[in-house]
Amino acid sequence: MIVLSFTEARRRVEQAAAEVRATAAEPVELLLCGGRVLAQKVAADRDFPPFPRATRDGYAVRAADVVAPPARLKVVAEIRAGGPPLPTSAPSTPLRAGSSGQMWGTREAEFKLRAGEAAEIMTGAPVPAGADAVVMVEYTSRRGQVVEIQRGVAGGENVVPRGAEAKAGEVLLRPGARLTPAAIALAGSCGYHALMAHQRPQVAILSTGDELVDIAAQPGPNQIRNSNSYSLAAQVQAAGGNPVVLPIAPDEPAQLRRLIQEGLAADLLLLSGGVSMGKYDLVEQVLAELGAEFFFTGAEIQPGRPIVFGRAPARPGALPTHFFGLPGNPVSTMVCFELFARALVEALAGAAPGPMRFVQARLKSEVRVKTGLTRFLPAILSGEYERTEVELVRWQGSGDMAATARANCLLVAPPDREKIRAGELVSVLLL
Ligand code: AMP
Ligand code: MG
Repeated sequence: MIVLSFTEARRRVEQAAAEVRATAAEPVELLLCGGRVLAQKVAADRDFPPFPRATRDGYAVRAADVVAPPARLKVVAEIRAGGPPLPTSAPSTPLRAGSSGQMWGTREAEFKLRAGEAAEIMTGAPVPAGADAVVMVEYTSRRGQVVEIQRGVAGGENVVPRGAEAKAGEVLLRPGARLTPAAIALAGSCGYHALMAHQRPQVAILSTGDELVDIAAQPGPNQIRNSNSYSLAAQVQAAGGNPVVLPIAPDEPAQLRRLIQEGLAADLLLLSGGVSMGKYDLVEQVLAELGAEFFFTGAEIQPGRPIVFGRAPARPGALPTHFFGLPGNPVSTMVCFELFARALVEALAGAAPGPMRFVQARLKSEVRVKTGLTRFLPAILSGEYERTEVELVRWQGSGDMAATARANCLLVAPPDREKIRAGELVSVLLL
């Protein structure tokens, strides 16, 4: 038996995750990149923003002209997002040299705002040369060609300077970046319509137990449906893997062995059930016969205490594949996947390691537990944005799927606390 604390077990998993080889890369259309991991660099193809961008609807001005509001300025142009500056008098003709007695060009680059002038401007439009700030339309009143500015602005206000977000050629995303919606938007804005992304790793899922029947079958009086294969498949998918669900393995060594070997041919094997101390818990024994190396065979956590982590070759001489033996109780299976297996799926999918993301919330009502184990208890996070509260769901232990389905997070009760009072801040792992 190798029983580790939660922190030690997690560290062991992270170490293994740092050592695994990620799957190969393939070109993927940007539309299909969600949930994948980047296998190339993404660089800015131009400055971002490509021009000084107005961030408000209003008037582009010289801040120096409005230091003593109210100030009256002559409106000489209208600049909309996507268009060139147009003279306010004749909206359809681009400004030309000579009008208003200054150098006007057909291109916005040649238009220059002079002292005493303002240009009506829309959000997302280029702030013209000569102007250094935008006054929000709310602080102005317009009469014909004249605008009265009621509030001063600081130089640079409501303007993002050209290149302030990124310079042309700058690397914005690196291999290992998760292709989140924001990363996809960034790549799209740089003109990438396909990206080299890692293939989804194949993650074999093997549920074990004589009591299990397929969800399509009618369970007998002593049988239950195999739900773990389905929760795990959904979790694998969400973590960036491709679930491969194997047939249910009975608690019988020969068939179990054959299915485990089949599972070890994948990039990762997740077993559910058969790792406790029962007479028919055969998973560890079969894995040992296959030459497994065990990193731990238990963790001081609840739910999920009997969790097993190691690696074993599919056949003698083959490279070893990592496996997790997850306790069969549905909540334990689910929680252990989040705490441990997810990190390995992500690493195989090519993702750079990231920390587990805990948030802090105020406990709504007192929690009492026995010391010694780190507990990850199904809970509900609620409350206003500035006062997040969390409370345990009432549950019947780690087999209670109905309670877990009502939860949206796991409340972490540290191993040394017998009682956590209402109002205390506790750590929460979002689900
Ligand atoms: P075990 O870890 O094999 O001792 O199983 C612990 C509990 O989880 C038992 O009540 C099993 O019936 C239940 N269980 C095991 N595997 C599954 C599964 N695939 N789907 C739903 N429940 C399961
Ligand atoms: Mg079992």
